[in-house]
Amino acid sequence: MEVVLAKNAGFCMGVRRAVDTTLDMVQKGEDKIATFGPLIHNPQVLERLQQHGVNILHEIPAQATGTIIIRAHGVPPDKKKKLEDLGARVEDATCPRVMKVQAIIAKYKNQGYSTVIIGDLDHAEVEGLMGFTGSSGQVVSNEADVDALKLKLPYIIVSQTTQDQVAFDKLKEMILDKYPGGKVFNTICDSTHKRQEEVRQLCGQVEAMVVVGGKTSANTQRLGDIAKGLGCPVFMVETEDDLDLAALSNYKKVGVTAGASTPNWVICKVVEVIKGLAD
Ligand code: SF4
Repeated sequence: MEVVLAKNAGFCMGVRRAVDTTLDMVQKGEDKIATFGPLIHNPQVLERLQQHGVNILHEIPAQATGTIIIRAHGVPPDKKKKLEDLGARVEDATCPRVMKVQAIIAKYKNQGYSTVIIGDLDHAEVEGLMGFTGSSGQVVSNEADVDALKLKLPYIIVSQTTQDQVAFDKLKEMILDKYPGGKVFNTICDSTHKRQEEVRQLCGQVEAMVVVGGKTSANTQRLGDIAKGLGCPVFMVETEDDLDLAALSNYKKVGVTAGASTPNWVICKVVEVIKGLAD
């Protein structure tokens, strides 16, 4: 079986950095390592980290020792301060691209600007960004949020890094129509965009696509939806055990891609099993 593996399959830079930071500590034999929130949305990685003694903190504990790792999404500054005040070592693995958005918000807040974040209210990255706005931040996820928006000049508009470009452009225009004069920063990370574009291209070259990633990973599901939308047969799998080998045997050339939180070792196993199928 011929397999075409997408170049941008798997970890984005920010996720790889956060996972490497954690694994480095494990390898150095550091004691009492915990991540503040699940490091990534992938059960295989979380299970492996747990086997190495890495715990997940869902709340700020009353006390802590050892090391607490802040994940790629980042946290509001007051939460980081609280974690540092616990006495544990805080290792900040916030993605540099997320830090850049945090820095833009902080800089303009200090100059008296309020902030509109185009993104998902419940997302951890947005919660972190809101912490940098002081009390002047508002989140816009859809058109109804624009209708409810109350703004005064000066203000800035930024986006969650994984925001869809089309949605950002539309909501940004609506906000500027309602409140002209806002300063816009398109802070969308191109990693998601590149991965999606590659799937569109691959669909034209292969007979079916296998998309590897956690069942709860939204960006993985989105890759599958794009391929389905183009009429390509799609197999969504978390690991090689989920592969429908009988159905895949009907094809001669299959594409493989993976979500931003899928580790390489899982992708490699999937590719290996598909390659082993007879033509
Ligand atoms: S998607 Fe982009 S901004 Fe978000 S963690 Fe990955 S590299 Fe960083």
